[in-house]
Amino acid sequence: MLVMLSDISQEDHDRLKQLGAADNKFWSTDDAAHAPLVAAFRSEVKTYYWQRQARRCCYCSKELDESKAAYDAEHIVHKDEFPQFMFELTNLSVACKTCNGVKKNKNVFALDVSLEEVPHLSSEYIVVHPHLDEWHEHFSFDAISRIVPLNGSAKGAETIEVCGINYLNAARLADYFLPAEFGAVQSALEGFFRVKRRGWKIKYLSVLNGLVSDLNYEPARTIIEALRDEV
Ligand SMILES: [Zn+2]
Repeated sequence: MLVMLSDISQEDHDRLKQLGAADNKFWSTDDAAHAPLVAAFRSEVKTYYWQRQARRCCYCSKELDESKAAYDAEHIVHKDEFPQFMFELTNLSVACKTCNGVKKNKNVFALDVSLEEVPHLSSEYIVVHPHLDEWHEHFSFDAISRIVPLNGSAKGAETIEVCGINYLNAARLADYFLPAEFGAVQSALEGFFRVKRRGWKIKYLSVLNGLVSDLNYEPARTIIEALRDEV
């Protein structure tokens, strides 16, 4: 993981850590005295981790476009409650807009971690950690190409929940329902993934059936049958 910066001096990095620790909004400061340095830091971190993570979101593994506007620098431990880690390189990675946006300031800690420094053990996190865990040890793609927890990985399941990875799963499966109305299909699939009760899952399956009822469309039926086997 990134241990030193080439564009930012150690002195400036230390200053950023201090200023960030005192102001949890400092990451997007518009203070003209500091904003250029923060922007330079963000830019370098994004470039580094974009390359280091093989251009992929650290949570859902989606490929990230090269444009820096297309993805976010991700604070693994969120900066609202833990601004002291805002500029810690070990607490940063890159994530897609969806994962970062859904994850927001959700808890990632297992219980009883010390918060004087960034926790550095995999066991101290309930989500798959971009630097401490291996993505492929916690996730796999199932027979209908959804991202699912590998061998029941608890961290994989938690990360799917915390980062809203089922939004991506729903969008990918909705492709198989075209030319049915994409948004309605995606929404029904999201509902199916979100609810826990069997009765509700069956209701979402009938919505999906209704959306393709006029179509003789085999790919969609294959997906519906696969989901039906799960309830
Ligand atoms: Zn993602």
